[in-house]
Amino acid sequence: MSKHDKSRYDGFATRSIHGGFEGDEYGSIIPPIVQGSTFQFRDVDHGVACFKDHTTGYIYTRLANPTIDILERNVASLEGGADAMACSTGMGAINTVFMAFLSAGDHIVMSESIYAPTRIIIERHWSRFGVEFSFVDSTDTDNIRSAMQPNTRMVYVETPANPAIAVTDLAATAEIAHGNGCLFVVDNTVLSPVLQRPIEHGADIVVHSITKSLNGHTDVVGGIIVYAHQAHFKEAHHAWYHLGATMDPHQAWLVIRGLKTLELRVKQAQKNAKKVAKWLEAHPKVGRVNFLGLKSHPQRDLNRKQASGPGSLMSFELKGGLKAGKAMMDAVELCSLAVSLGGVDSLIQHPASMTHTGMTSEERAKAGIPDGLVRFSVGCETAKDIIADLEQALEKV
Ligand SMILES: *Cc1c(COP(=O)(O)O)cnc(C)c1O
Repeated sequence: MSKHDKSRYDGFATRSIHGGFEGDEYGSIIPPIVQGSTFQFRDVDHGVACFKDHTTGYIYTRLANPTIDILERNVASLEGGADAMACSTGMGAINTVFMAFLSAGDHIVMSESIYAPTRIIIERHWSRFGVEFSFVDSTDTDNIRSAMQPNTRMVYVETPANPAIAVTDLAATAEIAHGNGCLFVVDNTVLSPVLQRPIEHGADIVVHSITKSLNGHTDVVGGIIVYAHQAHFKEAHHAWYHLGATMDPHQAWLVIRGLKTLELRVKQAQKNAKKVAKWLEAHPKVGRVNFLGLKSHPQRDLNRKQASGPGSLMSFELKGGLKAGKAMMDAVELCSLAVSLGGVDSLIQHPASMTHTGMTSEERAKAGIPDGLVRFSVGCETAKDIIADLEQALEKV
């Protein structure tokens, strides 16, 4: 235990640095990695008590582990939730939520512009187990309202959804979901709790790909589920540890390290993104720039209502279409041609040929992803260098 109780120091950055760890017997500033897969009981009675109530003691790392617990407490606090479950990947977190709360005959309403594998796993796989689904343009909440059915059990959105950078009204969606007795689930990967905390707007469950800004260093894949209500955590607990998409202690330890600079990283990347977007918008070879920090984004005000910033993710169309996009991406030097987002490294990619190949060209067009669109996750490099790289790459277009 640490000498002092730090819990009354409760600023966001303070919690991201100290949250969840109360010190160890050595006085270490940094949490230990408890890498063990299994734990010893003091005696049989202790074992019995642990199995009866998992909070009594540790049993086995798939069920709970001290290092992973620190991460869960930390992120639950950052999102304003009651509790959290760390997962091996973001998709592991998302599928755990589906597994825990959807049964055959249940219906889910989802944004159509969403992380493509989330859409595909429902369409191709959960449907095989009798889960029914509707994909809607959730930028207009009337579409969500009209998609509700008597068997709708869950409304699932991602805001802003990329690469279209489409915003869904969280409070209005929460009202529709709850008015129909449904769970409201939000993927908050893109903005992170630094900029947006969906539970404050009525979400019951928040999911993250930890791989992105929460870890932020492009060296871990992971996911997490944050619950607004302890009752939902309890309801999902069994499905989570028996499905087995749980986290590894070393993975958790790396993310705890990444979280310490979460606010610094997210704000610096956002500052860079604002400069980059303005520069791109003025460039003669660039068409539409989709970025929530620009006056030209039609949903800027809605994002401002529910988030404290535009983040660092944008997409843009080159006037020369697909061919120009390809030429530009082959020419970037500082920015890497790679999928993923939210890290300190700037990453650029082409959704139509990379992340969104699972959709048809028509489906992509309907979801606001024309074939010439480029997605850009702005990192924390010096802004003038990012712009210089884009400039030299655009010269080759
Ligand atoms: C990356 C991502 C996921 C999936 O996370 P993995 O860690 O890759 O499994 C889910 N949602 C969004 C918005 C993402 O960007």
